[in-house]
Amino acid sequence: MNDLNSLTQNSHFDEILKVDGKIKPIWILLVDGGPDENPRHMKNIYQYCKMFHAFDLDYLSIRTHAPGQLAYNPVERSMSTLSQKLAGITLPINKFGSHLNSQGQVVDSELAMKNFRYAGEVLCTLWERDLIFGKPVITQYIDHKNTSFNDVIFPGSEKESNNESNVPWRWLENHTKMCTYSLDIKKCEDRSCCLPNRHEEAAILLAENNGFLPPVTKGKDRHFLNPLHILEYCDKLKIPRYNAHCHFISSSTYSYLCCSECNVYFPTLSIVAQHKKNQHPKRRGRPAKQKKVFTNSVDNFLVPA
Ligand SMILES: [Zn+2]
Ligand SMILES: [Zn+2]
Repeated sequence: MNDLNSLTQNSHFDEILKVDGKIKPIWILLVDGGPDENPRHMKNIYQYCKMFHAFDLDYLSIRTHAPGQLAYNPVERSMSTLSQKLAGITLPINKFGSHLNSQGQVVDSELAMKNFRYAGEVLCTLWERDLIFGKPVITQYIDHKNTSFNDVIFPGSEKESNNESNVPWRWLENHTKMCTYSLDIKKCEDRSCCLPNRHEEAAILLAENNGFLPPVTKGKDRHFLNPLHILEYCDKLKIPRYNAHCHFISSSTYSYLCCSECNVYFPTLSIVAQHKKNQHPKRRGRPAKQKKVFTNSVDNFLVPA
């Protein structure tokens, strides 16, 4: 997330990230499933929400590859050339003198940081030497991990003073669609909460599905459909539930991940628990309603010819 913030401040990326000098209003990010990016982890979800708010985006969609699809991930394939460069090289570890004693323990942490910085900068120079798929590689050594977007204030956050994330749960539920392999964030209609959409046309199209891109959907021929095509041409009443067509999630797991009170689907049990705690506080402790069982079948989803 820090990287995304610094990219917006680097003029190299203005053509991709900005229009008329302002950050583009709609972002679709394809990320790998690593712990610092995966859109299923709560810590990342909060960070993506803060970034969405700080950049005044209209819509943010973060997508990751489902299991078995890593080979199709262009990011993974690009990164492999960086790992290749590391094979067979030795980075200098004691440029400014040894920071270790004879047992290999660090005895001078300041010197260790200086040496580490030097090795890191050498690596940056090595990595940025060649293009990847014709694109320049821009590297930067970062001394310490600083967290971006910590000063973002959400409407209503003052009411949840015990919430360390600063993202109120109510805001989260009103603006996000959390799924196993994706996270979508939208603006709401309440002007005391969100600024008006900057790209009105896209907002009108997304309004067809409550402001969100439709879920991953299989057509009658079992091929996955283009979500924009679904919004424009398909019968909205036949749009399946989120993740219902994801064959990695069995119908029993799917049922577990739906709230027993309101039946809304969430990607993990801990998010279901947090949802219940915040949205149904009075009803906690009562016997759960009978759960519906969902199937991953195609549900007669028709695409017009
Ligand atoms: Zn809002
Ligand atoms: Zn619920």
